[in-house]
Amino acid sequence: MISTIAIFVFIFGVIIGSFLNVVILRFKTGRTVGGRSFCFSCGKVLNALELIPVFSFLFQRGKCKSCKTPLSWQYPLVEIITGIVFVIVYFKTLAGFPFVSALSMVFYFAIFSILIVISVYDIRHKIVPDKLALWFASLSFVWLLATHNIFYFKTLGGLLNLLAGPILFLPFYALWRWSNGEWMGLGDGKLALGIGLLLGLAKGASAIILGFWIAAAVSLVMIGLQKIVKLNIPLLKMKSEMPFAPFLVLGTLLAYYYSPDLLSINVFLFGM
Ligand SMILES: [Zn+2]
Repeated sequence: MISTIAIFVFIFGVIIGSFLNVVILRFKTGRTVGGRSFCFSCGKVLNALELIPVFSFLFQRGKCKSCKTPLSWQYPLVEIITGIVFVIVYFKTLAGFPFVSALSMVFYFAIFSILIVISVYDIRHKIVPDKLALWFASLSFVWLLATHNIFYFKTLGGLLNLLAGPILFLPFYALWRWSNGEWMGLGDGKLALGIGLLLGLAKGASAIILGFWIAAAVSLVMIGLQKIVKLNIPLLKMKSEMPFAPFLVLGTLLAYYYSPDLLSINVFLFGM
């Protein structure tokens, strides 16, 4: 039963993922997300058979049906990743009262959809769009207020979770200022603001630490690979150009699911 629903959730995620692809491509281009999709090379309007997530890509062997221009791997990857993330959210929100679960599932679907768009946009354009970071932070803030009462925010833990956004933003802001924007863009800081509001201080800090660790591991592996097989990956020509948002988002997903406290903030504050 559970796995049948999980399969449906995965398919739903894949469909949302194909919509996210459209959002990523059309964001800031002045075009709306409405209107028919077309091939960017030959301009052919795509028919229903060419718009099936993942499958169209596989059947057409990654090429446009008319002009044979290779299609970006971004399409199937974003679709599959969104499907997987939605299944993770489904399993995470499964426990608890059904109504609350359904609501929080919808909330986290929306949150991680925004984060996926931010990640891919950062990979493509090396920038975290302000508008999306703001949506992420605002939705997280509204959710935080809606799911806690005033007494919670009068406790030390509650107050710190309320302030976690600005607290986690500060180190990024400091890095940005000290390096004149060379080590890190401010966009990652705006993302950290939302992460704090979404996860609170202990989990939010853990998400960012996990993001740094994964980014460090990945860049070490890639530098190693480059030395061995002389890969020429343009991303790595300048270290500061490596997009960081995808790693922060991955850290956020892990911290959301596993609720780690890597800095032992809760142990320090509450002895638990
Ligand atoms: Zn074409």
